[in-house]
Amino acid sequence: MVAMKKCVAAGIKVRAATVLYPATMTKKNLKSVYRWLCENGIPEWELLRFYPVGRGIKLTKFTPSNSEYLKIMKFLRGLHGFTRIFFQHSLKILEGTIKCPAVVESIGILPNGIVIACAWAIDDNCRPYPSFRLGKLPVDDLDEVLEKAIKISEFCTKTNFCRTIAYIQKGNKREVK
Ligand code: SF4
Repeated sequence: MVAMKKCVAAGIKVRAATVLYPATMTKKNLKSVYRWLCENGIPEWELLRFYPVGRGIKLTKFTPSNSEYLKIMKFLRGLHGFTRIFFQHSLKILEGTIKCPAVVESIGILPNGIVIACAWAIDDNCRPYPSFRLGKLPVDDLDEVLEKAIKISEFCTKTNFCRTIAYIQKGNKREVK
């Protein structure tokens, strides 16, 4: 918060980014965060979906349901003020307004050169889930890796769902509604 205020004072464009999960997505909390952002001249606020991956894997039981996300997104859309609110693509997927961009529009390249289909598809050791691993640079040619990957029907589906969440669900054999 101190850094955001200093950046605004220095004329730097600032975006706040927060993750939605039960501890943060109460109406009271969201309203007070929004009020603070508006009062302090923060132009943008991005709301992110919670992924039980990496460090978050220990918090799997706190994963909100789709209907909880949709309800709180509706509430957030009703807040109006200086700060522009927008949602991460994987939240908009829940509303059916966009499709999963994995491979089709975006990829991730990890510091060790591993190319992955989705930046969130990592386990609790920060290793990519096997079916999201596309290749490794510079050993493999990136254009060839992407050409091959885009042909895999798994990544070209036209349906709206998050494959990372689906993969975790399958692996955990539990339902993340
Ligand atoms: S798999 Fe999920 S998190 Fe990854 S790009 Fe698709 S919607 Fe986003």
